[in-house]
Amino acid sequence: MNYKINTYGCQMNVHESEKIASILRSLGYAEFNENIHENYDVIIFNTCCIRDTAEQKIFSHIGELKIQKKNNPNLIIGIVGCMSQQEGKIDIMRAKYPHIDIILGTSNIDLLAESIVNLRENKKHTYIIDESERPEIVEGKDYYRTSGTNAWVNIMYGCDNFCTYCIVPYVRGRERSRSMPDIINEVKELINCGYKEITLLGQNVNSYGSDNPDGPDFSTLLEELAKLSGNHRIRFMTSHPKDLNTKVIEMISKYDTLCKSIHLPIQSGSNNVLEAMNRRYTREYYLNVIKEIRSIIPDCGITTDIMVGFPGETEQDFEDTLDIVREVQFNSAFTYIYSVRKGTVAASMPQIPYAVKSERIQRLIKIQNSLTKESSKDCEGKTFRVLVEGIKSIGKVSGRTDAGRLVTFEGGEDLIGEFRNVLITKTQSAALFGTIKED
Ligand code: SF4
Repeated sequence: MNYKINTYGCQMNVHESEKIASILRSLGYAEFNENIHENYDVIIFNTCCIRDTAEQKIFSHIGELKIQKKNNPNLIIGIVGCMSQQEGKIDIMRAKYPHIDIILGTSNIDLLAESIVNLRENKKHTYIIDESERPEIVEGKDYYRTSGTNAWVNIMYGCDNFCTYCIVPYVRGRERSRSMPDIINEVKELINCGYKEITLLGQNVNSYGSDNPDGPDFSTLLEELAKLSGNHRIRFMTSHPKDLNTKVIEMISKYDTLCKSIHLPIQSGSNNVLEAMNRRYTREYYLNVIKEIRSIIPDCGITTDIMVGFPGETEQDFEDTLDIVREVQFNSAFTYIYSVRKGTVAASMPQIPYAVKSERIQRLIKIQNSLTKESSKDCEGKTFRVLVEGIKSIGKVSGRTDAGRLVTFEGGEDLIGEFRNVLITKTQSAALFGTIKED
């Protein structure tokens, strides 16, 4: 028996697919990745609803499976994740795609085993989405980890921020933090299993613990994890600028095990747009956070997300974004065009023509590409500690620095999972090339 998981969206979903894989394997299914749908016994779609295009793609794939299901009635088709949790979506899916056997919400993945057994033995379908704001966190889950040297660990779920363009708080619920002992135990186990990089995940990791004012905050959690013995490093994503505080920045600078790298989504450089987005910080506040990071951790890698074409964004607002990009000089930036998400506040705001958005993002990309190139160039002649992640080509391996920069250098399979000091000799855009520097 075999399975295929189609994963869409963010790192949280990729990690959740590891959990889904583990559940399927416990039922005796094996992974099978060929694109021949007839050969599958179970196909799971772990969905994302952040962008409309992703949703259309998922629906089109599900639609295509109608024939496969007809030819093979034992094929099990399941939909889990954000899309199923969206208001009214479960009814649309059931009506339009009756060949779907299982639909589970973002906090119901643990019911997958039971749902499959019920279907196999009793021919009963399962459609469950938990609509409580703070669904319980289920501990003691297994993950079939597929990420090589790097392991992901959720430290919290949900988000309380309600940025006006974002659907996440509606589909993933309010913030719920895992207990510190549970996180520490999971990380300890991963280190013992040989994982060299642990990435802490959450929509807004900086507000870890804010749902329990008497419990530990994010800086305390970081310190406890940083003190664990072993040859490893720890990074985290994502941070909200309003919640990244001095205590966290100082903690990162204090421990070598904490990566000197912060992903801090700015979204826009215009105060008008930031207010309309309900981001709850100004450009001045953001710049102060950057100043503080650079004064406490001078070599910190800073990356960001930038949205272009938010409803009402004027040419001046966009110029403000370009200005801040030039001023901060991010190592790299994930740039994207605003797209309407039904059910969010911004969906009902006056929209900007696509041609304007498209022209603006091209200008932004051009500037950021040239800044990324300069920032890489600055690395030439410097030595970085690199964790080797895999083979790049014959005789070459690649890995990442503490700040998350990708480096390629000579080496073989025996180096995977090892740390090496690498002298950077050449750069090309965001890519760094070097040679191992013997101690
Ligand atoms: S912080 Fe804003 S953008 Fe990020 S998940 Fe929460 S609501 Fe969405």
